[in-house]
Amino acid sequence: MSLIKTKSPYTKELIKSAFWREKSLNDMTRPEWEAICDGCARCCLHKFINDETQTEDFAPTDHIKQGEEILYTNIGCYLLNDKTCACTQYNKRTELVPDCVTLTKDNLADIFFMPPSCSYRRLHENKGLAHWHPLLNNGKKSKMHQLGITVRNRVVNESNIDLNDFEDYIVAWPLDSIE
Ligand code: SF4
Ligand code: SF4
Repeated sequence: MSLIKTKSPYTKELIKSAFWREKSLNDMTRPEWEAICDGCARCCLHKFINDETQTEDFAPTDHIKQGEEILYTNIGCYLLNDKTCACTQYNKRTELVPDCVTLTKDNLADIFFMPPSCSYRRLHENKGLAHWHPLLNNGKKSKMHQLGITVRNRVVNESNIDLNDFEDYIVAWPLDSIE
């Protein structure tokens, strides 16, 4: 879930209210919830579960078993704009990409699929927002681009590669959690 909006979700009112310090994710209003997304787009990268016992080819899954690990690649969804790090079809994303995970209050249990830096995951794990979050930087993502939190300029579009070669694209940086 990477947002594209005609208006920034990080309004002056929300920034001033510092709601994330007082409210749990479950208590947030819709605009507050949307503003927690830092727009990194790491969740728009393809991930694979490493399971050495699995013999069948790729199969979608919604859970992870003990001993399995999630491998990240730098392969981005075909709808991702890798400059703005935003979804080019945000309103139609679940229709166009059925695997696109949209975090809601009802599926927070799926948050382990998100990268450790994901701001929803950070709040869920009681880590608070990181200093680079747009809500703490006048609504701007420039610090995130500088620190390499966003995926800007580090993504290959899935349309341009053969997904069977995914092992060539495994990267560790989406698992970095820059404090
Ligand atoms: S990883 Fe989390 S914070 Fe980053 S774009 Fe996805 S949902 Fe938003
Ligand atoms: S459709 Fe693709 S680019 Fe858009 S939010 Fe989902 S994973 Fe990201």
